Amino acid sequence: MNKEFGELKERLGEIHDLHSAVAVLGWDQQVNMPAAGAEGRANQISLLCRLSHEKFVDGRVGEMLENLKAFADGLDPESDEACLVKVTRREYDRNVKVPSSFVAEFARTTSNAHVEWEKAKAASDFLIFRPWLEKIFDLRREYAGFFAPYDHIYDPLLDEFEPGLKTADVKEIFEKVRPAQVELIKEIGRCPETDDSFLHQELDPQKQWELGVEASTAIGFDWSRGRQDRSVHPFTTTFDLNDVRITTRIMPNNFASGFFSTMHESGHAMYEQGISPSLRNTLLCSGASLGIHESQSRLWENLVGRSFDFWVFFYPRLRDKFPGCFDNVSLKDFYRGINRVKRSLIRTESDEATYNLHIMLRLEIEIAVLEGKVAVRDLPEIWNARMEEYLGVAPDNDAHGILQDVHWAGGAVGYFPTYALGNMISAQIWECVSRDIPDLSEKIRQGSFSELHGWLAENIYRHGAKFEPQTLVKKVTGSKIDPAAYIRYLNRKYREIYSL
Ligand SMILES: [Zn+2]
Repeated sequence: MNKEFGELKERLGEIHDLHSAVAVLGWDQQVNMPAAGAEGRANQISLLCRLSHEKFVDGRVGEMLENLKAFADGLDPESDEACLVKVTRREYDRNVKVPSSFVAEFARTTSNAHVEWEKAKAASDFLIFRPWLEKIFDLRREYAGFFAPYDHIYDPLLDEFEPGLKTADVKEIFEKVRPAQVELIKEIGRCPETDDSFLHQELDPQKQWELGVEASTAIGFDWSRGRQDRSVHPFTTTFDLNDVRITTRIMPNNFASGFFSTMHESGHAMYEQGISPSLRNTLLCSGASLGIHESQSRLWENLVGRSFDFWVFFYPRLRDKFPGCFDNVSLKDFYRGINRVKRSLIRTESDEATYNLHIMLRLEIEIAVLEGKVAVRDLPEIWNARMEEYLGVAPDNDAHGILQDVHWAGGAVGYFPTYALGNMISAQIWECVSRDIPDLSEKIRQGSFSELHGWLAENIYRHGAKFEPQTLVKKVTGSKIDPAAYIRYLNRKYREIYSL
């Protein structure tokens, strides 16, 4: 092996280990830590973030990348080595523009802000969180400034989560999907309401947990290389290729929330567990982007988990687990219940038909604040007005409105569009899988997921972050990110359910 390439890999391995340590601290903060530990934890995370950033933007890394140019040019451009040099170059060029002092301040602020957001949400009081949110938007604006000139202030923020994608691309995709979704929701709105009261009966939390584990095991989560815990906001984090953590939240009277969270996070985790071991401990040992990641979680949560086929397999298990509770609910009614379209206040509880509208609202708010057209103090009011306009419902308090999501507290301004992109990519991928596995529907009904899992591992998981999202989507589906498949999917599914 090229000597300098070996040195680069060693350096990236150390940086990766520092990131993993941050992940452990972050996981512990959300799963175990007493609130009083917040300040100490913020300092610890901030220190590790600064150290790893310093290690990465060190001039020696730039020198190695320069010297490795000829080496990489002589390789197959899709080889692990060539991709590692390419992606490291991209990330180096991006990180070198950001001062380490900024990285430390950003990490400390967001770590503290997380705790203040939890307090504000519990008290349903935006005023507690407002100064932190103002600070976070200021920091994100400052961050964008390191990348000037740009076409749009949102571009550098989006690029962090969705490499290569521009604000204009996202706007174009959203413009296509919005009218189709609004029209569909309008038509569904004229239909009689679906009964889903059986999803809100009181069910033993422990048994709910067990059923989630059973589903997760069936679809392919590897428990020898991962585990599940509880947290307020379900998430997945990776400490190592062989240690992927998921969390869920179980509510006694909301079966769908915990169950589909587990399916969702399992989808994220299976992606991470499926990355080729040859990429371990490098910058390529993660998903291609958050949008691609989300396409994998949504695929298992929705295209599999909320499909009729899946419940042909799993409904008898649910009935066994909760004897008597679903006696009067037919499989068809259950399927309609878990796919009930409802204009709801909460993004994470919303159905597939309305979900993207929640994202569009957040994207518009982020862009308006960054452009200076809207002040953070006015956000609750703007939020409520737009909810009324888009979904016909307005929150009665901040906890159900502006404070519902954890993302801004974590500094993740620029992140939300990746959710909607994930939905669209998942449907594009599904059309390809369905072509390649013609009896997929039957396989799912039998509870056999290994072929589907294998297809995803072969075409997506194993590549890790070797390719930019648009490149990967094109490689897998033959076209760039295109909402047409998602619109087809929604129309087919909901027009059938609602007899439209
Ligand atoms: Zn997700």
